[in-house]
Amino acid sequence: MTYESIQKARSLCAVQPNLVDYEAERTSFTWERARRGLSGQQDGGLNMAFEAVDRHLESGLAQKVAIRWLGRDESRRELTYADLADASARFANVLAGLGVLRGERVFLLAGRVPELYIAVLGGLKLGAVVCPLFSQFGPEPIRQRMQIGDAAVLVTTPSLYRKRVAPIRAEVPTLRHVLMVGDDGRAVPPEDLPEGTLDLASLLHDASSTFEIPHTDPEDPALLHFTSGTTGKPKGAVHVHGAVLMHHISAFYALDLHPDDVFWCTADPGWVTGTSYGVLAPLTHGLTMVVDEADFDADRWYRILSEERVCVWYTAPTAVRMMMRAGTELTKKFSFKHLRFIASVGEPLNPEAVLWGIDAFGLPIHDNWWQTETGGIMIANYAASEVRPGSMGRPLPGITVGILVRDAEGKLHEAPVGTEGELALRTGWPSMFRGYLHEDERYKKCFEDGWYLSGDLARQDEDGFVWFIGRSDDVIKTSGHLIGPFEVESALLEHAAVAEAAVIGKPDPVAGNILKAFVSLKAGFAPSDQIRREILSIARTRLGPAVSPKEIDFLPTLPKTRSGKILRRLLRARELGLPEGDLSTLEADSVAPRGATP
Ligand code: ATP
Ligand code: MG
Repeated sequence: MTYESIQKARSLCAVQPNLVDYEAERTSFTWERARRGLSGQQDGGLNMAFEAVDRHLESGLAQKVAIRWLGRDESRRELTYADLADASARFANVLAGLGVLRGERVFLLAGRVPELYIAVLGGLKLGAVVCPLFSQFGPEPIRQRMQIGDAAVLVTTPSLYRKRVAPIRAEVPTLRHVLMVGDDGRAVPPEDLPEGTLDLASLLHDASSTFEIPHTDPEDPALLHFTSGTTGKPKGAVHVHGAVLMHHISAFYALDLHPDDVFWCTADPGWVTGTSYGVLAPLTHGLTMVVDEADFDADRWYRILSEERVCVWYTAPTAVRMMMRAGTELTKKFSFKHLRFIASVGEPLNPEAVLWGIDAFGLPIHDNWWQTETGGIMIANYAASEVRPGSMGRPLPGITVGILVRDAEGKLHEAPVGTEGELALRTGWPSMFRGYLHEDERYKKCFEDGWYLSGDLARQDEDGFVWFIGRSDDVIKTSGHLIGPFEVESALLEHAAVAEAAVIGKPDPVAGNILKAFVSLKAGFAPSDQIRREILSIARTRLGPAVSPKEIDFLPTLPKTRSGKILRRLLRARELGLPEGDLSTLEADSVAPRGATP
């Protein structure tokens, strides 16, 4: 890929990128100036839902479509900003009528239906703390999270309630109200309403559509998000209303959102990406977003991108890998002339995937990096900047990145340019998490000397681009070398047959560890010694013998978290015959989750 080819692809679209001069923008950036892009409340308050919805009613967008909802069964619903304002006000009134207090936790467990979005926004209007859960969780992860979060209210559907919640409801004594969402937003017939639950449609119908959003301090808690659980038990990260400033400006800089865009974030709101960028950030820009209820299906996704005229698409490597697996033939059936910008987050985006974007859409895929804890995008490849395949990009304006190492006394220092260290962020950005719920010590341990320590290892080159090495838990020590799995996996992916790869360290008496790779193959390829030899040969040529895998196992698919991330810790545990740990949140059958991009 050349820079020229990217530029040529871009010149086809007339939209001027938001961030043209990266250095100048970083120098002139201030949070005060950024805040002027939001409305705020008269008394210095800041409420996420007001910024996302109600403020647009005064600027002529009341009748603009905010959510274009695509049902699983090809049905469609469109909600304007006025509809969203009305319905979320009703929801806030419903909560208030039930005696729900500010700061109490409202959990959501539903597929991607309009009521889920209404409940997020209505809960935020009231000042409740909203916690969306991934609707494919089983009873155990639901129980665990509702207990940690002291759930007061749950919004769900009758079938999810019967299967997943009723068996554990007695174990969540804080749960006072369960509100039922019916099919297509209709009331649940009384005979179908499970005992001890209320019908949401009737409550919304009877509630007033006027709700005065109370003064909301930017430091008031707004969202509770559980991490993906890639490295262990999920942690409950608390975010405040002030985070909406980060959502807004990061979508402007890193996703290049423009007011006339049609935007599609494929992440489920049960994961932080699906809330920050699948609900809040796009709405603060007053644009139209697509919400697809259905699970992942390559053909369907291409069709949505094409027919819904998606301009900006935010997805995840797990989805990109699944699309790559399906082959580029499918893409030839569609035209993507409105698509201007593609971004990805959640896992390392291998250079192969960036290049595949050019093949399939004529656009590179822009990797960006952040975590549940950071609440918003911190590092990104930008629309008007060079894309360096394999790099996560450069820090956003307003964000300071450090690559830190410890000296012999244990003190932190910034690593020399180009060398490895822990990826850290200067504290104080608006969407920084304000706590791990009920885990104060763990929270405090994340901070040192004015830095937030991310637990990821990276290096930063002389131009400021950050290169992911691996999670500190996944890094492998072999014959005195410290190896991040990402670069080895990227080399394996260069073989045309390889769909997914994961590399772990397997203890070895001589080397300390040897590299062992697990590989799944694309459709049309079967495991063979020939393929194994070819993959090993690519790895040796690209990486040198010391850093190449010594063993390769073929698996039909790799084990993943429910959010679609490859679980190296599970492969390690299986390889070593260790207990597999807390599997309750994992996709134990090793199948990539459908439509579950983080
Ligand atoms: P847990 O903290 O419970 O183990 P998790 O870290 O997977 O779960 P998230 O907050 O959803 O939960 O994921 C953030 C992590 O995902 C990052 O710390 C990083 O390891 C990985 N990640 C996110 N984006 C990228 C990216 N662009 N490149 C490489 N890794 C990424
Ligand atoms: Mg994490």
